[in-house]
Amino acid sequence: MGLIGQKKGRLSILALSRVEERHYGLERFYRCKCDCGNIIEVRGASLSGKNPNTQSCGCLQKERTAETRRRIARESSEVNAMRRDEELIGKRFGRLLVLRRGEVLTLAGGAKRPTYVCKCKCGTECQIYATYLLKGITKSCGCLRKEVTAENGRKLQARRRAERNK
Ligand SMILES: [Zn+2]
Ligand SMILES: [Zn+2]
Repeated sequence: MGLIGQKKGRLSILALSRVEERHYGLERFYRCKCDCGNIIEVRGASLSGKNPNTQSCGCLQKERTAETRRRIARESSEVNAMRRDEELIGKRFGRLLVLRRGEVLTLAGGAKRPTYVCKCKCGTECQIYATYLLKGITKSCGCLRKEVTAENGRKLQARRRAERNK
């Protein structure tokens, strides 16, 4: 049959391993070595077609399934991101109004963090991590913190003055 020595997909056909008698004739089985190292037995009919269904020991299908699973996970994370956009855009967080989706920033560790472009009441536009908005960590472009610090500074000065005047 001339199959021995051929390569079909990932399978190298090593030798005829056995035959079985069928009503249409002999069915040949071949011992094949897959690129991944597995040795399997494959029906000659699966190997000799123009478009052989059997091109690996099964590892190819497994990889395809894994790839499909990854793609679905990727798509569902995009869907989640779009849902979060809907939840955030147009909302106010403290002094910030969320205008649109910002860049996705990559942290030092490689983790990706989506951001949103927000407009602060003071007129400044800034990019804020979505998680910071949701957790209430960031409520302004930074002006709020500056004011609070200034306010605390004033209080501190007032207290110091009061203590000096005792
Ligand atoms: Zn394999
Ligand atoms: Zn501001």
